[in-house]
Amino acid sequence: MLELAGLWKRFGDVTAVADFSLAVGRGELLALLGPSGCGKTTVLRIVAGLESPDAGRVLLEGQDVTAWPPEKRGIGLVFQNYALFPHLSVAGNVAYGLRTGGDRRGRVRELLELVGLSGYERRRPHQLSAGQQQRVALARALAREPRVLLLDEPLSALDAALRKELRGELRRLLKKLGMTAIYVTHDQEEALALADRVGVMREGRLEGVDTPEGLYRRPRTPFVASFLGRANLWPGWVVGVDGDRALVEVAGVRIPAERGEAEAGDEVLLFFRPEWVEVGEGPLAAEVEGAEYLGDRWELRARCSGLPLVLVTPKRPDGSRVSFALATARAVRPGDPASSPRSR
Ligand code: ATP
Repeated sequence: MLELAGLWKRFGDVTAVADFSLAVGRGELLALLGPSGCGKTTVLRIVAGLESPDAGRVLLEGQDVTAWPPEKRGIGLVFQNYALFPHLSVAGNVAYGLRTGGDRRGRVRELLELVGLSGYERRRPHQLSAGQQQRVALARALAREPRVLLLDEPLSALDAALRKELRGELRRLLKKLGMTAIYVTHDQEEALALADRVGVMREGRLEGVDTPEGLYRRPRTPFVASFLGRANLWPGWVVGVDGDRALVEVAGVRIPAERGEAEAGDEVLLFFRPEWVEVGEGPLAAEVEGAEYLGDRWELRARCSGLPLVLVTPKRPDGSRVSFALATARAVRPGDPASSPRSR
């Protein structure tokens, strides 16, 4: 449905987008995730036609639209700050997106029903809660029946509980409509919960793109591993490989792991999530240095042969020494030679 091919964008000496390629399928909900300033908004602006790339192409349904003005692309936008017209009613704001002629009133009613705001037609934006304003902005963007919907941190101005509720609603709605959408956020949980696939950006580049579970379970770079949730990353090397398994030596101990892209003899990082650590019995031992109570679990900071370790347990262990085993671990290659440092 949408293909971005080799996009580059510089602002003065800042490279905002670097060799960015991505294809989004029809009806797919793709979240773009990354730290502040990594280029997420710039990618959206290029797709929308609000910014033209220095190099690369934007293809919509196979058609090169790189040079097209925004209004010809059929792309809907929803931003963090709603951008509603304060002097227009809710109905007026939604109708603004509609073409003239036809049953405009009926269509507005339909759109407001879709976003759960039936009966709010006559209110002004200032008479709505933040969540309701964002629903109006969404209805307005959908009014034009866009081919692709771009959402830039649409929920970030809302409080945590409302965000959670709305992200579920938003996903259900976009799926029901079969909408192709890119959703920019810096909230990892939101990206994982909402999207069909998640792309992680770093310094203008796409460092990984996969299903939420694939990205969480099998990240290809240490950056993706540690950006998405908590990660233990221990330096080691691959003693040997057998099919999709590898034996990784870390601090003199040999630990079986998923091979990933590692070859025998490679220096790798042994990657494992805190919840993959089985505390109680096992061949490894760690000294606990700190414990934090998180309600449903304890998170422990520990050290194993000098290596930092984060693990979680349902109850606080007695004493400061714990034995453990790794249920799963994975070899991840350190660094990505393709990502060169860039000026800021
Ligand atoms: P955030 O999560 O903070 O919104 P982002 O990932 O969306 O960040 P962008 O807004 O795309 O990042 O910005 C990427 C880089 O490009 C940043 O270093 C930013 O300062 C720079 N940049 C973006 N737009 C412009 C502009 N119009 N002029 C100059 N620099 C810009």
